[in-house]
Amino acid sequence: MSLELKNRELLREQAYINGQWIMAKSGKTFAVTNPANGDQLATVPDMDDTDTRVAIEAAEAAWPAWRSTPAKERANILRKWFNLLMANQEDLARLMTAEQGKPLAESRGEVGYGASFIEWFAEEAKRAYGDVIPGHGKDKRIVVIKQPVGVVAAITPWNFPIAMITRKVAPALAAGCPVVVKPAEDTPLSALAITALAEEAGVPAGLINIITCSKPNAVSVGSELTGNPIVRKVSFTGSTPVGKLLMRQASDTVKKVSLELGGNAPFIVFDDADLDAAVAGLMASKYRNTGQTCVCANRVYVQAGVYNAFTEKLKTAVSKMVVGPGLEGETQQGPLINDAALTKVKRHIEDAKSKGAKVVMGGQAHALGGTFFEPTILTDATQEMLIAREETFGPVAPLFRFGTDDEAISMANDSEFGLSAYFYSRDIHRVWRMAEELESGMIGVNEGIISTEVAPFGGVKESGLGREGSHYGLDEYMELKYLCLGGM
Ligand code: ADP
Repeated sequence: MSLELKNRELLREQAYINGQWIMAKSGKTFAVTNPANGDQLATVPDMDDTDTRVAIEAAEAAWPAWRSTPAKERANILRKWFNLLMANQEDLARLMTAEQGKPLAESRGEVGYGASFIEWFAEEAKRAYGDVIPGHGKDKRIVVIKQPVGVVAAITPWNFPIAMITRKVAPALAAGCPVVVKPAEDTPLSALAITALAEEAGVPAGLINIITCSKPNAVSVGSELTGNPIVRKVSFTGSTPVGKLLMRQASDTVKKVSLELGGNAPFIVFDDADLDAAVAGLMASKYRNTGQTCVCANRVYVQAGVYNAFTEKLKTAVSKMVVGPGLEGETQQGPLINDAALTKVKRHIEDAKSKGAKVVMGGQAHALGGTFFEPTILTDATQEMLIAREETFGPVAPLFRFGTDDEAISMANDSEFGLSAYFYSRDIHRVWRMAEELESGMIGVNEGIISTEVAPFGGVKESGLGREGSHYGLDEYMELKYLCLGGM
């Protein structure tokens, strides 16, 4: 199916710096393709550090006027941007599915989710309250104010091509900061489309800059974004190794850093769980976006007493999944993003099989070819398998067996990651204990879908630093300034 858009203005093949749609200084471009069929959708500029420097300087120049714009005016512009995203939801969803592969229904959902951050932070912009603290001396008065941190660099992944950008750009703009964004090389078209709408909403030139670049140029663009002293904040969502590299690079100029990195979510089903609810939660958490979200369940721990019953119910649910191109019909699972993703999924399954796991459903590349993969269930998984250690990022549910609550806790926490965790139980004591003991930033209790703009999203351990969304999300783009008034 070809890509039909009502609003052709949304398909942009130029990057956006200082309010101008432009090509790379080098003149180079790279192709954006559809993972469902390999078709070329567009070409976009392949920018490097030289272009990035121009964008950073434009952002710096735009900063003073924006930070002194009353919060209510900033909020009004953001609100217009939100409205435009929602008015163009269908086109944005089609564009996203074309370049990313997820089913159209999920893309529509992501446009709504991505837009919700703009709506939320438009509201929060007006609430960057400070504080008055009782003075430490008779003649002293203490006031704390919040101020925008300055030029922000945002580097984002392909799995949520809009939401991962708005979750950073909306709070930055709300706080009074300009942003330079480097979207993922697989999905720059969604980034450019929402930027065209930001322009239409009246976001002034220089406040949102989009640097598109290929994978090889990500290194020079990333070095400039993390090394340039003008940039005061780096916000990254992506893999843990790249996050560590960017944090190291940002340390030379001591930038504020937010990182949302890999996860390896445990999903625990206790004997007393509502098994149907647990299966529904796992289906949503595991197979959404073909298993390519950082909060996807990666390790499914099932208590011995319900192991077989749960496996059967899960098999029934998974057998009904419709795999196909995201733009077509009733598709529930699209292709994986690229060949590297396919290779990793296969490697995890082969490794698990070699260590004793059984494939009870799927396990193979899908008959559709390309990067399509069968929804898969493995039983008899153990902690020694790669699938227990690394994030699979694919449609594979490995089922581990456990006996006691303590065993579940130690297996679940046996990971350097700590982004999200899920468990199903109807025992209030167990619920509270698990919620406290699990080492992760977010916990779904009898719930498989936890992302919302109103709650703080983020991880502990090597899953990251900082929180996005919620009222906490604005603070990531602000500095506290303490004023001590003496001689009062
Ligand atoms: P994934 O495995 O999800 O592609 P990555 O961490 O490689 O995760 O990618 C997330 C984002 O980080 C993408 O925008 C990618 O281009 C960017 N990226 C990858 N390597 C670097 C780097 N060395 N410097 C800056 N950005 C990078």
